[in-house]
Amino acid sequence: MNENTPRYGRIILKISGEGFCGPGGFGIEREALDRVAGEVLGVTELGVQLAIVVGGGNFLRGANFAGELGIELPTADYMGMLATVLNALALQEALERQGLTTRVQSALEISRVCEPFIRRRCDRHLQKNRVVILAAGTGNPHVTTDSCAALRAAELNADALLKATKVDGVYDSDPAKNPDARLYKRITYNQVIDGRLRVMDVSAIDVCQQHNVPIIVFNLFTPGAMRRVVLGEPIGTHVGGQ
Ligand code: UDP
Repeated sequence: MNENTPRYGRIILKISGEGFCGPGGFGIEREALDRVAGEVLGVTELGVQLAIVVGGGNFLRGANFAGELGIELPTADYMGMLATVLNALALQEALERQGLTTRVQSALEISRVCEPFIRRRCDRHLQKNRVVILAAGTGNPHVTTDSCAALRAAELNADALLKATKVDGVYDSDPAKNPDARLYKRITYNQVIDGRLRVMDVSAIDVCQQHNVPIIVFNLFTPGAMRRVVLGEPIGTHVGGQ
């Protein structure tokens, strides 16, 4: 094994909406978009198969939006899913500017714009080292793109789910509020669930636990972190085991 041998062969990467605009921002910003694309390039250069689940929180999150505008929650959730399509299309262009071959597959059918999500077709793209961007979450309201990432990791037999965040990993308390918050290096699924640690939705953790998919939480805004995670370096937080 040389120093560029990846730890994982196939990865699902979850990028929240704020990855496209920076923490607390709105919409899509060129600099953020290109930074994400550069990080992804660093990973694909290692020869891993990569599918990216994009969030939509930089435009709207159903639960907040429904209350604000008096819209029924499922409708707001469908609007949230459509927001993820905006990010997916922007990311596709940014990745192609880096010379990567990509496909967007959406869980809501938008046939003029992208392919529908079809598991076997997605699998084939990945085998051919195309980066697949998964849009519109699960296609169902009342869940988030975290749950989508966990489900796709299970059904596509991914070796790991990488969750890109704005902090370095999982802490015992909110690092934005508590300067003494402690970063976990390794933690079990049950510790996350029992401790109500804010990693992903409980249902997403549960799916990963059932299918034994490790989750690695890391900082999207640390240059090179994504690549180092894929190389198996001990950065971020590794969620796994019993
Ligand atoms: N959403 C949904 N079903 C899904 C995925 C997403 O209803 O399978 C909606 C939901 O309203 C969510 C919004 O899309 O709030 C944006 O996704 P998410 O909140 O996961 O984005 P992120 O926080 O990762 O940016």
